[in-house]
Amino acid sequence: MKNLSIQKTTNPMSKPAPGEALGFGRVFTDHMLIMEYDKGIGWHDARIVPYGPISMSPASTCLHYAQETFEGLKAYAAEDGRILLFRPEENFKRLNLSNDRICIPRLDEEFCVESLKELIKLDKEWVPRQEGSSLYIRPFVIGNESRLGVKDADNYLYMVLLSPSGAYYPEGLKPVKIYVEENFVRAVRGGMGFAKTGGNYASSMLAQHTAHEKGYSQVLWLDGVEKKYVGEVGAMNIFFVIDNEVLAPELDGSILAGITRKSIIELLKSKGYKVTERKIAIQEVADAADAGKLQECFGSGTAAVISPVGELKWGEKVMVINNNEIGPIAQYAYDTLTGIQWGRLEGPEGWVQEVCRL
Ligand SMILES: *Cc1c(COP(=O)(O)O)cnc(C)c1O
Repeated sequence: MKNLSIQKTTNPMSKPAPGEALGFGRVFTDHMLIMEYDKGIGWHDARIVPYGPISMSPASTCLHYAQETFEGLKAYAAEDGRILLFRPEENFKRLNLSNDRICIPRLDEEFCVESLKELIKLDKEWVPRQEGSSLYIRPFVIGNESRLGVKDADNYLYMVLLSPSGAYYPEGLKPVKIYVEENFVRAVRGGMGFAKTGGNYASSMLAQHTAHEKGYSQVLWLDGVEKKYVGEVGAMNIFFVIDNEVLAPELDGSILAGITRKSIIELLKSKGYKVTERKIAIQEVADAADAGKLQECFGSGTAAVISPVGELKWGEKVMVINNNEIGPIAQYAYDTLTGIQWGRLEGPEGWVQEVCRL
């Protein structure tokens, strides 16, 4: 590929054995991608190099002012040996929207997709083949100028790491318990809730930690102004099924526009379900639960694909949903989307791209 140099490792690492528990994001492949930006020059010196530590100034701007954006997507090994990517251009489009928000220079989206494919080809033996496992891909950008003044940086690094990761549900899809957060907020309109940036995660950690201690797996964020409307869950978007209608909070700038969310909406609509994106008050959800009309609730994101919610706790109120079991719409969305991603089902044109064969 033009403008991409490749330095292969002379010291390959040992790959996890088939069947070994991989967990998430702890094992990395032999290579990584790195590219630099300097003001006046632009992005340059894209290269694939052996995976390893990088050196940087302790005054690097990202360490002090959190000028950082990231993405998360996966490569899947199909049974017939194809390595597949799911809508990767959507991730790099979103990376640029995140970049715009915090003054990081835009990347060439096509180059990002193509260079990612080269990296995966080189490390294709690392794509796990066990059912449900995949190669998690983490592109990210950091401000990397050595200066303590508060200002967008003149220098940046773009990097891509690959991490073989285990099945999210080794024991099958189990509904989770979610805590509706009423004190802390994650983002406000006009803030950076729509951007995939580390700062949003830093601000969410205390609430997440507290919810964990109370026995809940994640928090459901409400809007940051009135704390009335449902936003999203931790690293997932949220759906409700009320009275046979699928509801998703509208993209109001304070929630992340999930690619899984978008894909689910498209799939459910084409299957004939009524799907509506709008403001959803938490009171409306509670009223529906009381009236026996809250049929399903589930989260969506690249990591879990679908995460059924079995219990929602809002103040003193506990809503148990669908007897704490996954509902038919969540199951349909999960089966269809994972079927497409692993190459078992034909998806809409262009959703799945072949990188190479094993
Ligand atoms: C990444 C992310 C999601 C899910 O997005 P997908 O593209 O579906 O993986 C949802 N919410 C937040 C805050 C996220 O960072």
